[in-house]
Amino acid sequence: MEKWQKSLADSIDSPVQLAGRFNLDVEPLRSVVARYPMRITPHYLSLIEEVGDPIWQQCVPDPRELTDTQQADPLNEQGLSPVPGLIHRYPDRVVWLVSSQCAVYCRFCMRKRGVGCGCLHSARGDHAAVLAYIADNPQIRDVILSGGEPLLLDDEVLDEILTGLRKIHHVDIIRIGTRVPATLPERITHRLCRILRQHHPLYVNLHFNHPREITPVSSRACALLADAGIPLGNQTVLLSGVNDDPEVMKTLMQRLLAIRVRPYYIHQMDLVQGTGHFRTPVAQGIAIMEGLRGHTSGMANPYYVIDLPGGKGKVPLLPDYVKRRGGKFFLRNFRGKTIEYRDIEKGLSTP
Ligand SMILES: *Cc1c(COP(=O)(O)O)cnc(C)c1O
Ligand code: SF4
Repeated sequence: MEKWQKSLADSIDSPVQLAGRFNLDVEPLRSVVARYPMRITPHYLSLIEEVGDPIWQQCVPDPRELTDTQQADPLNEQGLSPVPGLIHRYPDRVVWLVSSQCAVYCRFCMRKRGVGCGCLHSARGDHAAVLAYIADNPQIRDVILSGGEPLLLDDEVLDEILTGLRKIHHVDIIRIGTRVPATLPERITHRLCRILRQHHPLYVNLHFNHPREITPVSSRACALLADAGIPLGNQTVLLSGVNDDPEVMKTLMQRLLAIRVRPYYIHQMDLVQGTGHFRTPVAQGIAIMEGLRGHTSGMANPYYVIDLPGGKGKVPLLPDYVKRRGGKFFLRNFRGKTIEYRDIEKGLSTP
């Protein structure tokens, strides 16, 4: 057994195991876990400083998960799935759910309907069907491995998937979405990096939500990936009580850059059943973006996106910097000053 597999086996998966460490009534949490699984790795557990802190809220079950009445699959991922485990929403790219398991079950997960059970992902026996679909659709040039957690697959299975994709000539880039550098950093081994680097161009998008998730061990995991020549991005979920604060978000984005991770998206919470207590008003997301642009490195600015209900696509939102009057633009800068900008008078060139 590898070290990361031992850590996974040593994770806690029932509320009773919290009772010894923290002062709380675990009884109401039992029914939550019966519906939505719990797992907290030793590493992630060690980041909790007190009951209710930003780390706690992300991983410890909450009775409010059972009273939320939103839809289980508001993005219609099921309906957009041509073969089990594959989501084909946009013309040139697909999401391939290769695992239903995660190192830590985030309480706000957008795939809460399926993580932890066997029903979300394509099993190993179905991989041929997924690869055949991608091979039959030459417009697909970008494949995103997601789940669940792709990096909970064994090295051999992962290599098999990547090798299968690389045999399809029209697949240009492969992306892997993973949260293990934050939750199970020991999973990023030299061996894993040696496998990944054989399948370039490969991008990895990480998932850090709070500056306290960036520790010396998670930084080292990111360094191993970056040293394997893998461009690293980050997708953050905007979470009430965790990171819905311009200063916290600015610190997170700055620390990500310091470990060679480029912020990519801040996601508005999807309207997923069981996650309502994390939702923030859109105005809060816009205020966070306002707090970044101009106030810190441009590279620390991700896109703030809403993933439209029904799987209609991601849309970026910005503070209202632009006002138009006739041929003139009035543009507001980061200090709140509006400056006039005169456009040239020329039609758009159309192909
Ligand atoms: C987010 C998403 C993608 C990737 O979108 P990008 O903007 O290219 O990162 C692709 N397919 C689905 C279904 C998605 O939800
Ligand atoms: S790691 Fe990702 S897929 Fe897994 S529970 Fe967290 S948000 Fe969901």
